[in-house]
Amino acid sequence: MSKNFSALNMAVQQVAELDAQLLRRKLRITESPCDTKASVGQRELKAFCSNDYLGLANHPKLIAEIAKGAKLYGVGSGASHLISGHSIAHDFLEKKLASFEGKHIPNARALFFSTGYLANMSAITGLVRLAEQGEASIYSAKLNHASLIDGVRLASAQTKAKVSLFDHHDLISLENKLQQDTHPLKLIVIDGVFSMDGDIAPVEKLLHIAEHYDALLMVDDAHGFGVLGEHGHGILEQASVHSERIIYIGTLGKAAGVSGAFICAEAHFIEWLIQKGRPYIYSTATPPAIAHTLLTSLELIEGDEGVARRKQLHQLIQIWRDEMTFSSWEKTPSSTPIQPVIMGSNADALAAAKLLDEAGYWIPAIRPPTVPVGSARLRITFSANHSVDDLRELIQTLKMIEQTIQGAS
Ligand SMILES: *Cc1c(COP(=O)(O)O)cnc(C)c1O
Repeated sequence: MSKNFSALNMAVQQVAELDAQLLRRKLRITESPCDTKASVGQRELKAFCSNDYLGLANHPKLIAEIAKGAKLYGVGSGASHLISGHSIAHDFLEKKLASFEGKHIPNARALFFSTGYLANMSAITGLVRLAEQGEASIYSAKLNHASLIDGVRLASAQTKAKVSLFDHHDLISLENKLQQDTHPLKLIVIDGVFSMDGDIAPVEKLLHIAEHYDALLMVDDAHGFGVLGEHGHGILEQASVHSERIIYIGTLGKAAGVSGAFICAEAHFIEWLIQKGRPYIYSTATPPAIAHTLLTSLELIEGDEGVARRKQLHQLIQIWRDEMTFSSWEKTPSSTPIQPVIMGSNADALAAAKLLDEAGYWIPAIRPPTVPVGSARLRITFSANHSVDDLRELIQTLKMIEQTIQGAS
């Protein structure tokens, strides 16, 4: 290495520093489809870490549909949506997605994106531009997903929108801030299901607040879409809310088992985002075959199979909550398939993940900055493809690991 190549020296040093703080992350290569068993480095591991909550990522019907979609539409879209990339498969999908949320958002229209990250960037930066420079306020929950945080930061840099953070357990302080806010555009931004804690946002109360203070409420339901509500329509169905102030974000690479995301909102907001949502405008449209595959995924979610898969998930969640009571590790009030076990220190979380690996499990340690400092954890997630026996075995293994770690300290 050349002595004067300072950027490269910095990279070497910075990564060494992460290593020393036990914060270096490592990629692990999986050799199998996403399912409850994963082949990693030629070993078969029992995986409790994906977001494939309904177990659709390796579903034979979807595998058949993606092949059919490729025959119908080829493999690439070739351009962004506003040039020539907007296929009839995208249009079918957007209409179906709008019908999913239409009971909760009047005059609903949906806009499909290649990722949730992109949907969030577009929604936040685009909506804030409805107001003049410096005339918007954004209220963002402290534990929001990184893609929302980044969307808020970019929007604020572009438009000088004022940003306030709030604790989603303390809505009084949110109201106090809104009371003093004279900006014509106010946007409240929140995760529907908090991705690292698994608790559900109080959307009903938030909507009430949004209505009272003339704000928009943007809910990122990445972990609720497909999982919550009788038909899997997500948090709006579960909370039974209805308002044209709701900007709904669903992602399609988690419970829906494929890839992509969407914004669903009152049609005028969507029309505006098509005009001004830069990440939407300047990105190549997702392959239409993906949109085609998602149509079947939505049918599975809504239909009997989805109902049965959600029932299985709820059984797993109930058993976990009943049977993990022996553990002194901290848990969260989660009623979703995201069930964290919080160790606190990075070292303990890494030790637990390593012992789990030795016992044949794949459950990585989640450390800062993904979670707040001092709350490193195992983020355990369930899939409808897990059996009750799979779960009971995991609980027994965790029991032994907790004893080992506590014996060592
Ligand atoms: C995963 C996730 C996203 C990003 O969605 P992708 O489709 O993976 O880019 C956005 N928000 C939340 C809360 C998420 O968990």
